[in-house]
Parts: sequence; C-alpha cells; structure tokens
Amino acid sequence: MTLVLDRLSRRFTDFAALDDVSLQMAPGEFLALLGPSGSGKTTLLRILAGLDYPDEGTVMQADRDFLAASAPERSVGLVFQHYALFRHLTVRENVAFGLRVRPRRRRPARAQIREQVERLLKRVQLEELGDRYPSQLSGGQRQRVALARALAVEPELLLLDEPFGALDAQVRVTLRRWLRELHEELQLTTVFVTHDQEEALELADRIAVMNRGRIEQVGTPQAVYQDPATPFVCEFIGRNNRIPLARQTQGWGAGAWPLATDPWGGRYRQGVAYVRPEHLTLSVPDGQPAWGARLRHVYLAGSVAHLDLYVADIDLVLEADVASEDLGRLGLQPGASLRVAPNRLVAFPFDDDHGDRAVI
Ligand code: ATP
Repeated sequence: MTLVLDRLSRRFTDFAALDDVSLQMAPGEFLALLGPSGSGKTTLLRILAGLDYPDEGTVMQADRDFLAASAPERSVGLVFQHYALFRHLTVRENVAFGLRVRPRRRRPARAQIREQVERLLKRVQLEELGDRYPSQLSGGQRQRVALARALAVEPELLLLDEPFGALDAQVRVTLRRWLRELHEELQLTTVFVTHDQEEALELADRIAVMNRGRIEQVGTPQAVYQDPATPFVCEFIGRNNRIPLARQTQGWGAGAWPLATDPWGGRYRQGVAYVRPEHLTLSVPDGQPAWGARLRHVYLAGSVAHLDLYVADIDLVLEADVASEDLGRLGLQPGASLRVAPNRLVAFPFDDDHGDRAVI
C-alpha cells in the first residue's frame, strides 16, 4: 500500500502529540516509528488505524482520502503490546474471529475459514496449539496468535504497536527475526512502533525517528546510524560521545582537539560534536592533533574492548578490537595516559539557533 502522510498534527488541549508530521510509505515497506515514550508514535499509529483523527493534515492512499474511510474500510491489521486476545476463545477461534464477524456478503464459507485458519497457524508456527486457550500460552506464542488474527482478514497495511514490548529479551530477539522473515515472505506494508533502537535497526527497511511529536529523521537503519541528522538522533541511536565545541582563536576546538577549519564560516561560537566509540582511535601518529586522555577502566566484551577515558573534564568511551595492535602495544593499565583522536565526528553549531550539521 502506498501512503502519503502530509503535515499531520494532533493536539490534546494545548499539547501537540503530533506536530506537522509528513511521511511517505512505499508498498511492501517495513517502517519503524522509533522514539522515546510520549514522542507521538502511538498517536500516529492510531490515526492510521482509524482510532483517532488529526486536527490538521491528510493521509492519501493513491487518490483515496484514507482518513475519510472507516476503520474496516481501510484494510488494516492491528497488533498491540498487550495481546488483546479473547480469553474465552481458543487459539483457532481467536484467529478466525475477524473472518466470522464480517458482514454476511463478505464472510467466507465455514470450510474456507477453517482452511485459512489452519494456513495461518502454520505460518505463525502454532499449528499444534490451535485448541489451547490464551492462558495456556507463553507471551511470545500469544503475540503470534495476535499476529495471525490480524493477518486473517488479509489486510493491506499491518500496524504493530510495541508487539514484543512485554516479552523478555531473548524471546524478543527470536520473534524479531521471525517477524522479519515473515515480512520478507508476505511483503505486507508494515508500520512498527518501538522505543527499542536495536529492534528498529534490525527489523526495519526505514526508520522514522520521533521526538516531541515531530519526525527528526527518516532513513534506512544504516543512514540514521551513520549519518544522524540532529543532536537528538545522535543521542538516541547507538552510543555516542557528546563533546562541547567552542570557537578558538584559530578555527574550532572540541575540548583540546583542534578542528583545522571553521565549518560555519564564523557564524557561531559554540556547538556540540558527537563521536561514536568506534570512531575514536588510539593510533595517532606523532605530530597529529590528539586529545590527551587518562584511562579509567577497560571492559572486555567478547571481541571488543570498551575503554572509559577521561579527557579534561569530559568522559569518553572508545571501542577497540581486542585483537588490535594498539591494545597490545599500550598495555592499558588504569591511570595510563593515552593519545586519542576522532576519525569521524558529526557536529552541530548553536548560538541562538541550530545551524547546519557538519561531518568532519
Ligand atoms: P509510548 O512509547 O509511551 O507509548 P508514544 O510515543 O507512543 O509513547 P503517544 O502515546 O503517541 O506517545 O503520546 C504522545 C503524547 O500525547 C504523550 O505526551 C501523551 O501523554 C499525549 N496523549 C496521547 N493521547 C492523549 C489523550 N487522549 N489525551 C491527552 N493527551 C494524550
């Protein structure tokens, strides 16, 4: 399903839950809405589901005004965090529910419903459990039933609101992979709400990063990770070192590390730089600018080491390959003095306003 969301706003009294949100979805796309609690993800999903309406803006599906269509006319499947399964119905009856309650002229024959339910149970790998009641299932199994029930009506748009939010970490990871495979098979246009960045990075074709009712960036997982567009996206996705920037007599500096040029042509005096732990390096040739750092701790995490460093009054984390020559060469006793330098940083100036991003 192609959807074009244009300038959607939704206000509750004087508070904007959605503020001028525009977004386009391509058929078969898996889009994650990612953001902290209260950023407007559920409000946007509810509007798409027909459970709420915006105060301003439009949603078009090709030439059709999507918002003018009633919820059943929209051909949407919905799954929530808390498995809204019917407790008094078996798994099989839950999955069949959406088909049984259809108006008579659109309701499939009984045998057809039975056949479709069996096909769906197989698809969500629950064919053995069709006669159980929801109370006899694990959380992960219940969410698979909820998904089968949403798929039963053959929706053109699947809306998932933190479907794995109530499950423990290991089950989440398994279901995530499973959902991705299912999506590749079905190619159903999907919007997936989550505040878990790992989930979004692993599952989605594109991620819309939301903050305070606005979309700060839309892009592939790779793009929002490698090329964050705003300070918020830098801080929300992945680990990042935040370093204050100041204009110095010559050029700019991030702490004691000089930037050769002023990317903003003298327009600003302060800013902030972000450096990912893996973009800090210990291999700084003599004569090259570097930060003098003091090592606080080394944490070994399998094949990588995290070094907690102190540079002037800033805490930094550096990530290095355990097998790297630098680690062997330096010995790394807590308290050791090191030279480190960023090999990529993303910087934003600010004085009164936010200026253009610079990647250095
Ligand atoms: P979470 O991850 O916690 O579910 P979210 O990003 O989905 O958060 P929303 O549920 O969309 O956020 O809510 C966005 C903001 O709008 C919140 O501050 C919320 O309190 C507010 N809000 C949502 N629904 C209403 C309502 N019916 N009346 C008043 N305020 C509301």
